[in-house]
Amino acid sequence: MSLLNDRLDALRGPVPAKGHDARTLAALTTNPGCSRRALLDAAGIDKDAIAVHLGKPRPLAKSSLALRSGAIFEQQVKADGGAELLRLLREALHLPLPEAAHTDLANVGTQDASLQVRHAYTRTAILEAVRSASPARTLLDHPILQLTVASHPVYLEPDVVAFQIDGVFHIIEIKSFAVVDGQAGPAKVGAAVTQAAAYILALRELLENEGIDGGRVSHDVILVTPRNFTRRPTASIVDARKKIAALTRQLSRLTRVEPLLDALPAHTTFDLALNQDKRPTRDPKELAAALHTTTTRYMPACRHFCDLAYVCRSEARDEGLIDVLGSDIRDDLGGVDHIGTALRIADGTRTPADDQADLAAALRHAHAVRTQLRESA
Ligand code: SF4
Repeated sequence: MSLLNDRLDALRGPVPAKGHDARTLAALTTNPGCSRRALLDAAGIDKDAIAVHLGKPRPLAKSSLALRSGAIFEQQVKADGGAELLRLLREALHLPLPEAAHTDLANVGTQDASLQVRHAYTRTAILEAVRSASPARTLLDHPILQLTVASHPVYLEPDVVAFQIDGVFHIIEIKSFAVVDGQAGPAKVGAAVTQAAAYILALRELLENEGIDGGRVSHDVILVTPRNFTRRPTASIVDARKKIAALTRQLSRLTRVEPLLDALPAHTTFDLALNQDKRPTRDPKELAAALHTTTTRYMPACRHFCDLAYVCRSEARDEGLIDVLGSDIRDDLGGVDHIGTALRIADGTRTPADDQADLAAALRHAHAVRTQLRESA
């Protein structure tokens, strides 16, 4: 593992690794065929910093106002040692919980608050709760979990709380989108539950590594959101089994990182070469060339989840890849990778391969219709 870590460190350069969160993990599995993302994420590389240095940043996915409002809501829910959260849990789980031990792992009592150290504290706190002779009821605030992704451990920094009730852990996800009349946007709920599914898998992995039944982590996620249009929180229980199954399947398909590293030219690095003011000094052309040694699988949906989307889109456009037109068209034109090839088959300047006869007929028909329309316009 240390040799692998050394190789990943060399890719990243002398800066701390950027941790995963469940959102980036869900994104990683959304485009499992992309080697570039798999490599950069495994090395903990700041993709946003690369995109900015190359002059193609992704517009903010969320406004700073929305981010601030989300953080304020989370603080409100967790205030006073989790008193409000405890009230919600009593309601949601119908359990008599007079009090709970609240442990905030954001301050672990050491100067070294690295992900590794906070994960070690999280692991100890959870195992103590599992093995406690008394009926431990523990709120864990800011835990750091670890999940094995493509044979490589990644840290998850949930803003959620793991809670043990009578021997079963529950993942609590706090989101600031409103639930109106008991209903929330399905896309938002789906994204929140996918994140929580990653936490559930990580917590199960922690227990199973100690020979403890992973089934002690509930598949039910407790989703805490504002009620209606107020700031008053409400808790709902959401069954995450489908998301857990989908994420497990997607993670098992992810390519191992070592073969991707082996395929890179010797001495490849994505180091931005920061100066004393933490400004990148790396020649952007050289950095772009280094990125180009990795293979991508750009799709328009990348814009919703990957910081490199505008870099990869620009490359795909320059190369005239069909991928920029979306997965429906890519599937329709199966076997044709470039827009120019499709256009030449359509206008008859390129002879299609034997197995492209149907595709060529469809393209020529579309070309004829378009030509007719232009002539009659
Ligand atoms: S934007 Fe680029 S690096 Fe990110 S997932 Fe898409 S193709 Fe991969």
